[in-house]
Amino acid sequence: MSLDLIRNRIAAACTAAGRDPASVTLIAVSKIQPIDRVEAALAQGQRVFGENYVQEAQGKWPDLRVRFADVALHMIGPLQSNKAKAAAELFDAIHSLDRASLRDKLAAQAQSRGASPDLFIQINTGSEPQKAGVDPADADAFIASVRASDLPVRGLMCIPPEGQDSRPHFRELAAIAARNGLAGLSMGMSSDFENAITEGATHIRVGSALFGARG
Ligand SMILES: *Cc1c(COP(=O)(O)O)cnc(C)c1O
Repeated sequence: MSLDLIRNRIAAACTAAGRDPASVTLIAVSKIQPIDRVEAALAQGQRVFGENYVQEAQGKWPDLRVRFADVALHMIGPLQSNKAKAAAELFDAIHSLDRASLRDKLAAQAQSRGASPDLFIQINTGSEPQKAGVDPADADAFIASVRASDLPVRGLMCIPPEGQDSRPHFRELAAIAARNGLAGLSMGMSSDFENAITEGATHIRVGSALFGARG
């Protein structure tokens, strides 16, 4: 468990960028990690966790939340529309809002529950055909439509194409957020979170660098 190391790297990247470390939230991505690693992070004070699968999170977190009531859970993986209800009940934030059908399901949940997770809209900055996310050309219109549905849009999320320099993608995400008046930027993973901090990330999603390899 290298939580202290990651915290130090975040602090160093913030100092270099002239940013307050408190402006960056570390999301510890605990998908498919042994439970003892998750408990070790909790014991060291980590309280914000990311999960990719609704079912896995449902199996893991209700028990842990009895002991750690102040945990915040972020859904970062692709979300099927038929899991929208379960996700809205379990998660404090969803980073993978990427299409109208999911928007409408989440809006219906928000109506009936009188509450909604914080939402990040996923942008497919690389316009990769196989990847989830709204195409950058459609981003402004989709963001407006989510706001018009009375949903709490906090920011944008991206997963840059593998094997490419992430920084142009981080900059594009930041530009789309800025012109839409959005403060949240969910970007940066184990291999590139320092660059993401340089480009303005408010939420970094770090799994393997923190917990070790998965599975
Ligand atoms: C798994 C995952 C991460 C964490 O990836 P690491 O490279 O292990 O840090 C971050 N974001 C998303 C969307 C993921 O699916």
